[in-house]
This record gives sequence, structure tokens and C-alpha cells, in this order.
Amino acid sequence: MGQSSLLVHSCCAHCAAYTVRYWQEQGYEVSTLWYNPNIHPYMEHQHRLEAMQSLAREMSLPLIVNEGYDIVSYFRQVVGREARRCRYCFQLRLSKTAETAREMGFSAFTTTLLISPHQKHDLLREIGSELAGEKGIPFLYADLRKRYSDSRRMTKPLDLYRQQYCGCVYSEWERYAG
Ligand code: SF4
Repeated sequence: MGQSSLLVHSCCAHCAAYTVRYWQEQGYEVSTLWYNPNIHPYMEHQHRLEAMQSLAREMSLPLIVNEGYDIVSYFRQVVGREARRCRYCFQLRLSKTAETAREMGFSAFTTTLLISPHQKHDLLREIGSELAGEKGIPFLYADLRKRYSDSRRMTKPLDLYRQQYCGCVYSEWERYAG
């Protein structure tokens, strides 16, 4: 990997589109990682993954897809502490990203979650910075929330699958029953 190679954890195609372009414009050689065992049920996970694969083809973007569907790890992290589940969900996904980035020789890691106004932004920043120290690889931070609708505009012509809830069964329940 080059000196300015960046591994971007991708939560979905719609958040990835602008985020990837932003980091490319900052001079980084960008690759993306798919690791989202927080997306339930399995077929919802597959629909979002397929959308991300289409975007990657469209943007000629390297996409590393983590083998399997690590749903057991997700539930082991959150069961019994559901009220704070997003913290453990972020830790799980960003930890895998930092480890993969370090093993594959990337110079830094980040996440597309930083573009979403629906996510706990400050918590993401805190966890990314903690993991940078723990795993020994820099976490790149940018507040891209003002570009959230630009990112969605970029994917509109591609007619990709669009999710209606954050990802886990708890968020699906809150979305439809709340
Ligand atoms: S609401 Fe979203 S970020 Fe929070 S635990 Fe569920 S999938 Fe993860």
C-alpha cells in the first residue's frame, strides 16, 4: 500500500459515495471494507451489500468484503446492554476496520458513518481515536454531515437499494413501532 492509502469502512452505498470522493480529493488512495454484522435480517444485509458492490463497480473502487455474516459477534457485544448498543456496534465494526487496515498495510482508516446525521457522531469520533491508539494506526476524522444529501444525490441515478432503518433488529423495531 502507498503512503497515503486509506481503508474506509463502508456502512452503505449511499453514505460511501461522497465520503470516498472526499478522501480521494484529499489525496488518498481509497479502498473500502464491508463489515456490517449489525444489519438484520440476513437478506437486508445482502441487499445493502449488493448496493455497495454496484457502487464500487461504478466508481472503480476496491471493495474488501469480510467473509461470512458475523451476527453472533454482534449479539455477543450488545445483549444485556441494549441501551448502549451503538457504542459496542461501532467498536465491533471499527475495530475490524483498524485491524484489517493495519494487517494490509494501509496508512490510516475511517468510516462512512461520519457523514450520517442519524449516527452518534461524537461517539464515532471518540471510538475511532481510541482504536487508533490501541491498534497503532491513525483514524482519519472529518465531519461530513453537511454533505449527506449530496451523497444521496450521487447514488440516485444508480437506482440502488435504499434501507429504511439503521440496521439492527432493535432499530427496525423502533422505526416501525415507534
Ligand atoms: S441502531 Fe444502528 S448503530 Fe446502533 S446498534 Fe443498531 S445498527 Fe448499530
